[in-house]
Amino acid sequence: MPMSTAQETPSTEEDTEPEELESIDVFWLPGEGCDGCSVATLGATDPGIEDLLRGQVPHLPQVNLHHHELAVESGKAYVDGMRDAMAGERDPYVVVVEGSVPNERLIDGDGYWISMGKDENGEPVKMVDWLDRLAPGAAAVIAIGTCATWGGVPAAQGNLTDAMGTMDYLGRDYRSQLDLPVINVPGCAPVGDNFIETVAHLLLHIGGFGPPLELDELGRPKWLFGETVHRNCNRGAYYEEGSFAEEYGSEKCLVSKGCWGPTVKCNMPSRRNLDGVGGCMNVGGKCIGCTMPGFPDKFTPFFEKAPGAMISTTSSKILGGIMSRLRRNSMKKLDTSTRWDESGGITERLYQWKLKRGANYDPDRGLERRPGAGDD
Ligand code: SF4
Ligand code: SF4
Repeated sequence: MPMSTAQETPSTEEDTEPEELESIDVFWLPGEGCDGCSVATLGATDPGIEDLLRGQVPHLPQVNLHHHELAVESGKAYVDGMRDAMAGERDPYVVVVEGSVPNERLIDGDGYWISMGKDENGEPVKMVDWLDRLAPGAAAVIAIGTCATWGGVPAAQGNLTDAMGTMDYLGRDYRSQLDLPVINVPGCAPVGDNFIETVAHLLLHIGGFGPPLELDELGRPKWLFGETVHRNCNRGAYYEEGSFAEEYGSEKCLVSKGCWGPTVKCNMPSRRNLDGVGGCMNVGGKCIGCTMPGFPDKFTPFFEKAPGAMISTTSSKILGGIMSRLRRNSMKKLDTSTRWDESGGITERLYQWKLKRGANYDPDRGLERRPGAGDD
């Protein structure tokens, strides 16, 4: 049964104020990845992860993060928290998956792709076993980064581990205790603030202070992944005017260099990478579609034009060329004052009048009044 939030079931008058959840455990499971999503998370500022760990965000519970690289505990002490959660002693808790999930069934006999901790017989416990045991009781499962969401680079064609995203592993019908599918925050690496904002939103909801997250059909937060890169790109006006980069370093639209922005869902150009700085095309890079389920196979080779780019750039060049010419004419008109329109240009009359009245003109210092002259 889906768990209820504190907001949903006030039974008496005293209960109408939601009871604040003081703390919550977040269990971070490492799959096949490069830990870049952890690094991106550490860079978030709005709020920062340290704000969540210290419980400094109003109405958000303090986060007890169980992260394999950031934890102080190790060995048994580290995995005991997960065992408590499996026994129902840490409710409500959240699971985060970073990296893609390997297909352990491929291994016939001993061996495994990824493990964490040991069981009572001293045998390694596979990452997928932790996921199997923790996911059913979790308030929510969040997949961070493109490896954990859709499979990403470790799941590229030809990979040996049959890697997949968390949604593929847990199944299309998986629902958490809050009746949520896997929440997917893609990106390679994702914007750290996208992830922390999603967590903060979820924790507000769990605590009864916020509405449920709005997710799209693939479990992506709608407010973060509802628009294409192109719609918020600061080079969009160049595209519209049919003005395309011939080489990297140009300020013009990069579709001519293979930018996939018009068909990719990502908020990187507007949110930027870190604390309002960076972001692919903001720093001269084109979009290679790293947030999309088809990444990387459907976007390679990265340095070739996207299919359809020829049609869109040619039509944009024709229409944009006409529009730019019309705009240049309008701009010419708007770039003069009404005074100049009447006089035929910037007037010199006042200057000549001043000269006549005794001002000096020094090319280095400009117009200077001669002392005593023109004092009438
Ligand atoms: S650089 Fe890419 S995202 Fe930006 S305007 Fe051009 S095609 Fe669109
Ligand atoms: S703009 Fe494109 S390449 Fe950059 S983060 Fe978004 S999807 Fe990835």
